[in-house]
Amino acid sequence: MNVETISLTPGPMGGTRDLTVYRFGQPGARPRVYIQGGLHADEAPGMLVGFALRDHLARLEAEGAIHGEILLVPVANPIGLDQGVAGGSAGRFEATTGQNFNRDFPDAAQLALLQDDSPPQGDCVSTLRKRMLAGLDALAPMTQLAALQRALLRLAISADIVIDMHCDSEATTHLYCHSEQVDRAAGFGHAVNAGVVLHARLQGGASFDEACALPWSAFRDRWPGTAIPLACFAVTLEWRGMLDTDPATAENDAEAVVAWLAAQDVLSAKAATACERSVAVAPLAGVEVVTAPRSGLFLATALPGTQVIAGTVLGQLRCLPDGELHVLRASTDGLLYAREQTRIVRSGAELFFIAGQTPIRHGMLLST
Ligand SMILES: [Zn+2]
Repeated sequence: MNVETISLTPGPMGGTRDLTVYRFGQPGARPRVYIQGGLHADEAPGMLVGFALRDHLARLEAEGAIHGEILLVPVANPIGLDQGVAGGSAGRFEATTGQNFNRDFPDAAQLALLQDDSPPQGDCVSTLRKRMLAGLDALAPMTQLAALQRALLRLAISADIVIDMHCDSEATTHLYCHSEQVDRAAGFGHAVNAGVVLHARLQGGASFDEACALPWSAFRDRWPGTAIPLACFAVTLEWRGMLDTDPATAENDAEAVVAWLAAQDVLSAKAATACERSVAVAPLAGVEVVTAPRSGLFLATALPGTQVIAGTVLGQLRCLPDGELHVLRASTDGLLYAREQTRIVRSGAELFFIAGQTPIRHGMLLST
């Protein structure tokens, strides 16, 4: 295990801030895998799985069992980790700008084309990866957040596989991916016991997984006559809910990731997993978001992981200030995969998420 420290520049006004990367396997070996947790710094499950993975990978490396190269960043957001309000953590949005840490990553394709927009010759994947790296190197971040985003994307942009680990509010495990990669994502979803894989050609927020996968789609559009693969398999993996943090769960999750990596020929492990497509798959545009019509007290009854149909009662809202009772129902058939965990909610709050099969939304498909 090689431990690398990356200084983020610019850092805080008071000095410097570092990012720690754990490297396993031979530098330059393929497949190259990049895994991170805690980009939303108030989500503990991804960081816990990250540290459990570090232990597994260190052991496997000592056994000579890692064939590819793996870069692991269990704590991807030291800025957000430091943020808090009145005793609570506040790691989803950067405090000085209000920006979601997992939105608006740089467009590596655009940066690559600024470096060199000639048609790629020979090994186009390798050529375009080099151009993207050069493009990111040429950026001069002006803020802490821009420095962090560039550093993370630099680590991931040359990878064959990118796994960005998060969690939802209260939820069953689920994944987000590009529609073209849904079969492989469904195999991964099966391995990690996910309830559903949500896919879109464009989620709309320039989140981390999109920042890694979409440049390849942009290169294809730029050179339609050249056979350019979607050379980076990138997913956002939501490990259940915020409070699902018992040690056994993180350990099991890490083992599931290791088993899947074995099936991808990244490493050898005793329990390589079968990757059949047995997990539910749904278009991200088919997700029904049930919102609060008024502010109130949220009585949640339907549990994540429940299959619902249009009309199913999901819970109630005791509206404020008058106490009027409002029944919350599904309008879509599908899997209820996530729900809000706070119980005093504002008007418009997103309370339930149901993965339906029929597209009903367009534009920005991610929550704020
Ligand atoms: Zn998150």
